[in-house]
Amino acid sequence: MAGRRADRRDALDGTMNKKLTIALTKGRILKETLPLLARAGIEPLENVGTSRKLVFDTNREDVQLVIIRGTDVPTYVRHGAADLGVVGKDILLEQGADGLYEPLDLGIARCRLMTAGRVGWQVAGARIRVATKFVNIARRHFARQGVNADVIKLYGAMELAPIMNLADLIVDIVDTGNTLRANGMEPLDEIAAISSRLVVNKAAMRSRYTLVQRLIDELSDIVGEGDNAAA
Ligand code: AMP
Repeated sequence: MAGRRADRRDALDGTMNKKLTIALTKGRILKETLPLLARAGIEPLENVGTSRKLVFDTNREDVQLVIIRGTDVPTYVRHGAADLGVVGKDILLEQGADGLYEPLDLGIARCRLMTAGRVGWQVAGARIRVATKFVNIARRHFARQGVNADVIKLYGAMELAPIMNLADLIVDIVDTGNTLRANGMEPLDEIAAISSRLVVNKAAMRSRYTLVQRLIDELSDIVGEGDNAAA
């Protein structure tokens, strides 16, 4: 009954004929999401990893994939340009998740968001300088700790900042810790455990309920999260 009601709602909204669009990011997320989608019966018609195209049809006529930068995934989904997306929790923590549902932790692309410093580094003055691309997360973290931190925005190669004396500490993603070690640094405090999340446009969750909820349920079963209500 509920399914039929939702089907009627989809039809009334005129969204039945529009393809369901899923936003993904090249790299680890793509590599680990494609097998999950394949198990849910969604497979791109060509090799997404090697193609330079940004939009991909799938074996499902009603589903397409778009490939964008991770930091742009929440924007596409929030504005409804994509109905769903897969994005790291680090990006959601940094940007906020307004306008998005985050119904499912896919448990993939796991890593940790950490502070790190040069091996043996100790606090010297009343303020510390922190280089990161996660400025909002860093500000919140040090404010919670009661530490006066000047946060410096960088776009990459955070490990270079302490070496060049641009900063005392960095806030960055750590997986194996090899990048830190290779640059004479060590991990310090863990700020958050990170994994990739399925995000859904709030309007799509209502207007395309049948399709979207079915996909959430299927992915949820596949990653073993059981009962995932959209919240
Ligand atoms: P590692 O040397 O294994 O600690 O990896 C650290 C670097 O890999 C970080 O600077 C990140 O840029 C990148 N990285 C590792 N895992 C992830 C992930 N799950 N998501 C995004 N970036 C990652």
